[in-house]
Amino acid sequence: MNQHTRFNLPICLAVEEDAFFHTDEIIRRYIPDMIGQKTVIVSEQFLIDIYREKIDDISHDFGGAEIITMNSASFDEAVAIAKKVCMEEIKVIIGFGGGRVLDTAKYAAHISKAVYICMPSSLSNDSLASPFAVLETVGSTRRTLDCKIPTAIIVDTNMINNAPEGQTLSGIGDTIAKHTALYDWKLSAARTNSRVDDFAYALSRMSYDSVYHCDEKNMKSRVFIRILSRALVMGGLAMEIAGSSRPCSGSEHLFAHAIEEFYPDVKISHGLAVALGTIPACIFQGQSPDGLLDFFRTYGLDISPKSYGITEEMFADMWEKARTVRPGRITVLDDVKHDRVQLGEIYARMTEGK
Ligand SMILES: [Zn+2]
Repeated sequence: MNQHTRFNLPICLAVEEDAFFHTDEIIRRYIPDMIGQKTVIVSEQFLIDIYREKIDDISHDFGGAEIITMNSASFDEAVAIAKKVCMEEIKVIIGFGGGRVLDTAKYAAHISKAVYICMPSSLSNDSLASPFAVLETVGSTRRTLDCKIPTAIIVDTNMINNAPEGQTLSGIGDTIAKHTALYDWKLSAARTNSRVDDFAYALSRMSYDSVYHCDEKNMKSRVFIRILSRALVMGGLAMEIAGSSRPCSGSEHLFAHAIEEFYPDVKISHGLAVALGTIPACIFQGQSPDGLLDFFRTYGLDISPKSYGITEEMFADMWEKARTVRPGRITVLDDVKHDRVQLGEIYARMTEGK
């Protein structure tokens, strides 16, 4: 993990009001070489229908960029886009959308060696700037693949404001998860006699702190959106610097993976699943969850498992499965004994929200 010494950083992180209406100016400021280069915009049909005007404007700014409508966030589709990009000598790929679009576009850019510009339509998780793409490989089975991070990230604060509230809450959850992830990373390093990358650690810690200690309690405000966008991007960069997802992903993420893999019918976003995971993870780690419970209450992030159709029985089973979903990933779960009574108490506490 710590042999990794080379990393890339994006050259542009623009978080501006109506940024998508003046992408040409932003690109001219940061990567002027890209103006006039052959470009494609990857998005999804429902987003194209909603944001037709913005997407047409971006296309116009990039010399009439072709708009590619993707269907599935799959390895095959990313490869098909990459093939088109190589064959037609396209130099720039813009990903416009949520996590599915961004991961597909990021991976297509990675294999075609095109410049990748990330334009999120919501702030639902920290994959924006992470060096990974999660794609379907066989059927709906997903794999996490190594990837180059974006060259430019452009966030339009107005657009994020119009995204469903649940998406922003999910982004908040993925940021707060760093609290328990960093504990597990240190624990794992101590166990394996390896070193935690101090800079990646600090970056991830600051990402968490900026949201956890944020004075702005209105998540629709421009100030908060700015802070959350930066926090999510810094999380991605922490992973790039560490050369692994450890600065942002610990036992709370194992819990979320257990839901994704064993309970696909439970409808809960990634960020909310990890938020649910942070409370038990804190308790397992011997840390008080009171601060996090307060924080979630303040922003109206519902951490009652019941609200997502998770029964006490399922909750206990999810934690049991969490130990086995990523063999070799050392977390506090390797230390705690599976205890149904304790899990029942935690479940009750989370259901009451205190
Ligand atoms: Zn995450």
